[in-house]
Amino acid sequence: MSAIPQPEIAAAQPGPQFAVHNPATQEIIGTLPNLTANQIAEAVAKASAAQARWAPTPVRDRLRILGRFAELLCDQKNSVAAVISREAGKPEAEALSTEILVVLDTVKYLENNLPEFLRPEPVPHGNPIMKLKRGTLLREPYGVIGIISPWNYPFSLPSVQTLTALATGNAVVLKPSEFTPFSSLELEKLLRAAGMDPDLLQVITGDGAAGAALLAAKIQKVVFTGSVATGKRVSQAAAARLLPVVLELGGKDPMIVLEDADVGVASSAAVWGAFMNAGQTCLSVERCYVHERIYAKFLEACVAKTSKLRVGAGTDPNTDAGPMIHERQLRIVQSHVDDAVSRGARLLAGGKALYNLGPNFFALTILADVDHSMQIMREETFGPVLPVCSFKTEDEAVALANDSEYGLAACIFTGNRKRGEALARRIQAGTVMVNDVIACFGISEAPHGGVKASGIGRTHGRFGLEEMVWPKYVDSDRLPRMKKLWWYGYGPGFAQQMGGFIELLFAKKLINRLRGGVKSTKSYLRRRLL
Ligand code: NAD
Repeated sequence: MSAIPQPEIAAAQPGPQFAVHNPATQEIIGTLPNLTANQIAEAVAKASAAQARWAPTPVRDRLRILGRFAELLCDQKNSVAAVISREAGKPEAEALSTEILVVLDTVKYLENNLPEFLRPEPVPHGNPIMKLKRGTLLREPYGVIGIISPWNYPFSLPSVQTLTALATGNAVVLKPSEFTPFSSLELEKLLRAAGMDPDLLQVITGDGAAGAALLAAKIQKVVFTGSVATGKRVSQAAAARLLPVVLELGGKDPMIVLEDADVGVASSAAVWGAFMNAGQTCLSVERCYVHERIYAKFLEACVAKTSKLRVGAGTDPNTDAGPMIHERQLRIVQSHVDDAVSRGARLLAGGKALYNLGPNFFALTILADVDHSMQIMREETFGPVLPVCSFKTEDEAVALANDSEYGLAACIFTGNRKRGEALARRIQAGTVMVNDVIACFGISEAPHGGVKASGIGRTHGRFGLEEMVWPKYVDSDRLPRMKKLWWYGYGPGFAQQMGGFIELLFAKKLINRLRGGVKSTKSYLRRRLL
């Protein structure tokens, strides 16, 4: 395993520290500084100075550094996966497939798409008078982007956002979760080894107070990923200073299994979608609705498959599902399960903590006959629980799926792709997958983000690139020596001539357009006073 990186700011100014634990064993992985507001403001100032040097750097040179970073990451994938697994608890296989692979694909996406994206874009004008002007759209970097991250995808989430921000010409000050900061320090280390100016990406460590201090520092945009509760606080702080935000928040993603679905495939998808990363994925299957005709068969298959899965430490290669990140998360999961059972849900598997494995392990749990009066169907559970109920009609399934304050993603399983796509249009979610779960996060071209309480804005793909730049419209007149028709020189005939123009351009009938043309001609001859 690679040596634990320590942030440079910390080495320079020691202060209060916090410990980071392995959630499987509770052993202390390392301690890091809880940076003060002054240290964070200093980091932002350094980033801002570096950004001024970075923004004029040609795109191909920026991409060359990202390419070297990708090469290093590819070589060191196993040691980086070990760092992720140790602090987040997930199996190393998942660290490779859902974190490192996603980041490498992002670099490829940027290499393939960024030059075109940043190329000045001609803006053709429809209005004939405005055809005398040449319009060009430029995409300018914001400056310093503040990125605040959660613990559940401690490498891929901040890395995708950071790489996109850097490639588009920004600097980044990144505040990782206090539970999983070492993965972000790996990102910082690899980018520096690839030749990136150290001031351009600075990882600032600390808890929520460090995040709040970053929001108060001189950043030009914040990209926040985390819970709805914190997202609201971030949004309020940002609003007070008109700071643009992207908010990637929680989810309560529904899975709909239609009667024509392959039960074998759909049950495997449900089990993986609910239990991978121990259910701590924003895109996890958090609610499952199955057509009544296949309900019993589907549940039977899910129970049989779940009984074969192994819960344990993520560093053990035989593990399928790791621990919860901390005991607080485990207690939330337990309370949702207990609430569901007390209201009549049938417990088909799991349902309790596995204290024999450690303080944070929860058994893979299947609940049947749940309904929307239960917390488990309304609030984000964020644990290894698959709650299932049946439906009779498509309309009922859509109504149930949309009966949520969240709208991050959804999935539909069916033997008829067209039927699935038609149904997808009726679901209120940022992403709907037909016949797969979660995998959309690994598609670099696909925009990621939610509607309703699940957030504002997008990361990934073209929409994700657009979030990192502001549009600047440059307008250049082709006849610089000509005074414009609408400038001063108003007189009795002016209103009539302008009325003529409006008719020429917009009147429905040809005769009115022609009449307008005649009326407006005089404006070309109008004497302009100034
Ligand atoms: P969280 O909201 O508790 O913390 C997220 C980050 O915000 C952490 O770095 C934390 O230190 C920081 N923070 C806390 N208080 C702050 C404040 N007042 N100002 C600024 N920053 C502050 O979330 P979490 O528990 O780390 O992550 C789990 C949540 O994240 C879940 O709800 C999950 O659905 C969501 N999530 C969403 C996505 C997505 O893409 N939509 C992806 C992953 C996780």
